[in-house]
Amino acid sequence: MKPKESARPAGKQSAPQETTAFTLPAKQAAVNSLSEKIAQTRARRLERCPTLYRPLLARCYSRRASPREAVKAFCQECCGYDRRAITECTAYACPLWHLRPYQIEEAAP
Ligand code: SF4
Repeated sequence: MKPKESARPAGKQSAPQETTAFTLPAKQAAVNSLSEKIAQTRARRLERCPTLYRPLLARCYSRRASPREAVKAFCQECCGYDRRAITECTAYACPLWHLRPYQIEEAAP
């Protein structure tokens, strides 16, 4: 049986494919991808957040909240938006415990 002949002469490389679509540099594309991921994650979190607590969470996301407000938002999420649970939080080893909102003055050591 006779071997098949190649369509291309031996040793000749194929021409590089031309890309017609504009492609972002890899780093910029990664940044855009991360930004989209952050925006989508935050949008989902805001949807799940009770209406009363949304403005604070939105302020945190837009970098307008103070660190104290960010702690408050974190504790609210941690305790399922239950104010009393934050007041009575017994996670004494939590790094935010002294900073948590709704503390009763006498209870703080
Ligand atoms: S202090 Fe309590 S409520 Fe706040 S983040 Fe820590 S464990 Fe959660």
